[in-house]
Amino acid sequence: MAYDLLMTNDRCVGVTGKNKDGQLCSIYAAATVIASGGCGQLYPVTSNSEEASSDGMAMAFRAGVRLKDMEFMQFHPTMLFANGKGAGLLSEAIRGEGGKLVDEDGRAIMKHKHPLQDLAPRSVVASTVFENVQAGKEIFLSIKNVPDFEGKFPTIAENAHAHGIDVGQGLLPVRPGAHFIMGGIEANEWGRTNKEGVYAIGEAACTGMHGANRLASNSLLEAAAGALLLAKHMRVEKPEQNVHQEQQDTHAAANMPETQELQENMDQWAGIVKEKKNLLKMRGWLDAYSGSIFSQASTFLTKNDMTRKNMMTTAWMITNGALARTESRGAHIREDIPLEKREWVRHAVCWEDGKMEPVIKRIDAAEDQERVAEHVSVTS
Ligand SMILES: Cc1cc2nc3c(=O)[nH]c(=O)nc-3n(C[C@H](O)[C@H](O)[C@H](O)COP(=O)(O)OP(=O)(O)OC[C@H]3O[C@@H](n4cnc5c(N)ncnc54)[C@H](O)[C@@H]3O)c2cc1C
Repeated sequence: MAYDLLMTNDRCVGVTGKNKDGQLCSIYAAATVIASGGCGQLYPVTSNSEEASSDGMAMAFRAGVRLKDMEFMQFHPTMLFANGKGAGLLSEAIRGEGGKLVDEDGRAIMKHKHPLQDLAPRSVVASTVFENVQAGKEIFLSIKNVPDFEGKFPTIAENAHAHGIDVGQGLLPVRPGAHFIMGGIEANEWGRTNKEGVYAIGEAACTGMHGANRLASNSLLEAAAGALLLAKHMRVEKPEQNVHQEQQDTHAAANMPETQELQENMDQWAGIVKEKKNLLKMRGWLDAYSGSIFSQASTFLTKNDMTRKNMMTTAWMITNGALARTESRGAHIREDIPLEKREWVRHAVCWEDGKMEPVIKRIDAAEDQERVAEHVSVTS
């Protein structure tokens, strides 16, 4: 498991981590690529795997690499919900085939919410399901009008059966779940970050391609294209081997809450629909652990502790990013400021130099032109 980037003279020269036996090791490299995926594990219901704990984003933060747009977390509207837990994704294709979201009285919850009803953008559907759940309702994906459901969606039907749900009844219990983060380590199309020697691709990166609300299916495409372009483009020089490592403060980094507490608080205070009052509660809760979150010490931590430290770091960026962005846009929904604001167009909330507070940066048109020019030179 990679723990931290090895930096010298503001340049990345490899990573430290722990091997299978828990022994500390350093790997020196001319180019280090962060491709560690997203951070769905910050929330109690998620489509993401257990490894999606934001390690790469947190290690980039500690190394002073710039991240941005961390407040843009996308929730998938329809996770199967069984035995009090998320139990797998119910694909949007089911709604495409006629599936409808209903409450326990059979009322179609999307009917007056959006002209596209059940096929509205993810953020609209997810926040509507969330509002209903908050109001104490049980929400189901009705598949009564989906002809031959088991034939068309055999894997989903099998998974539902395995979780004790009778598909024949035509009602699949659902909750929204953390699915994809649009933000991440700022990178251009081929993974270049603002620090020499470190690159980022896939969900860990933020190229801006997904805007404020990713469209389904674009992330695998981006990850594959980004990897190909990076392989063509990255500069490989001789790695430096002798890196001075700071002494570790063994007390500062050990004070960390249980993962479940973090997930529950993120769900309650920094989840699908956010507001200043709750975000401040989340910030206050995280602040009590700031000594551990922002400590550079890590080598003595167990893998489990390191994962929690990383999750707390990313929770800090999501929470404070959401506080800083005083508008609603795409998947970033502020109940207290429900509209998009003009002054936020072409502005990003950024995290740089490992600082606790974000900076708001203007993205200028010249930067875009530079990116297009670079892209043309890579692909041509
Ligand atoms: C259920 C589900 C369905 C999806 N469906 C689609 C779809 O249809 N189309 C689409 O475009 N996108 C889809 N997505 C999104 C897409 O799958 C992800 O965005 C994409 O897989 C991310 O790829 P990645 O390579 O960046 O990260 P990942 O595929 O998450 O890989 C990250 C890897 O890094 C490893 N890792 C993490 N931390 C460390 C560490 N500290 N040290 C060492 N290794 C580490 C992990 O173990 C993992 O192997 C879906 C996502 C989910 C969860």
